[in-house]
Amino acid sequence: MIARALLRWYDRSKRDLAWRRDPSPYKTLVSEFMLQQTVVATVEPYFTRFLARFPDVGALAAASDDDVTALWSGLGYYARARNLRRAAVAIVTDHGGAVPASEEALRALPGIGPYTAAAIAAIAFGARAFALDGNAARVFARLSGEQRPVDAPATRAALHARGLAEVPRRRAGDFVQAVMELGATVCTRAPRCEQCPVAADCVARAAGDAATLPRKRARAARPAVRLVSAFVTDGARLLLVKRPAGLLAGTWALPDAECGGDGKAVARRLAEEAGVRVARVEHRGEVRHLFTHRDVTADVYRVEVSGSPAAAGRRWITPGALDGLGVSSFTKKTLKMGTLDRVERRPASPAGAHRGMVWEPSEGAHQENATTTRFGRSKEGW
Ligand code: SF4
Repeated sequence: MIARALLRWYDRSKRDLAWRRDPSPYKTLVSEFMLQQTVVATVEPYFTRFLARFPDVGALAAASDDDVTALWSGLGYYARARNLRRAAVAIVTDHGGAVPASEEALRALPGIGPYTAAAIAAIAFGARAFALDGNAARVFARLSGEQRPVDAPATRAALHARGLAEVPRRRAGDFVQAVMELGATVCTRAPRCEQCPVAADCVARAAGDAATLPRKRARAARPAVRLVSAFVTDGARLLLVKRPAGLLAGTWALPDAECGGDGKAVARRLAEEAGVRVARVEHRGEVRHLFTHRDVTADVYRVEVSGSPAAAGRRWITPGALDGLGVSSFTKKTLKMGTLDRVERRPASPAGAHRGMVWEPSEGAHQENATTTRFGRSKEGW
């Protein structure tokens, strides 16, 4: 049994994280949604901003999808934002505003699967449950010397059973967090076994396998997708569309379409669909972006137009309004490509420099494989 040694280590070594201060079931709910597929360092600033804007489940339930997605910009996996809001609505409607305590009731909420339900039940309510995330799977694969691929369903079920058997009656939530913490800080890809509180119980360490476990199945190559993105501007404003179901659903983006042919014609059509008159179309360059399951290359065209009819799902925005919208890291790259030339031609004089704006959003390492980028745009227009 590893619980005693692991909990002693956890009490000494746990990180001071925003959701661990003055904890509550609502904070656990929000943090567990944000931590799905996303590392702690990326999540923390998002969590803090989110709690400041939506301090309780009622405030979140009363928000719009756009409000929530705007605070999620750059965090990736945008379905999480919509599901979290829907979960808050269900908690208010069906549970009197209190986050339910049982795994079964939690799993009935939107966006909550077995992993998240177990994590919330254990951490917020002390239930004897075990959450097998990537860190926990790595730890238990090594502890038990598991040679089968860790991403195979049968292996995950076996690892979950091993983890659950180790959960103590008291401090179940701390145990779950301690396993995750060990995987995040000590039993990492390059494990630091000499610092490990459970090294004496580790099969992989004894066998000299620690650095080569866990094994994973060969990953299929991401399919390559070619897009045309249209940076449609009337000089002062930019046309954005709300993405429908599918990739980056619910975020605001440049109009785009898959294309293997005449990109200029496609960019023109994307603008004309908004009912505007096209004056000029210019190819600005390529943006490449790796999503979890797709390798996307977007050809960005700047389309200068006149006339600005509005239509459902489309919105003309000014530079200052962009910060209040939910936009993905991919879209930020295409925006940069559309405005880059304007920024580079800006006069180097102090006066000219002051006219420009530089927007440096916080980006994360997650689904979108995003990198932090700087990009500027003219104060006067796009
Ligand atoms: Fe991981 Fe090494 Fe600890 Fe085993 S001894 S659990 S491989 S850090």
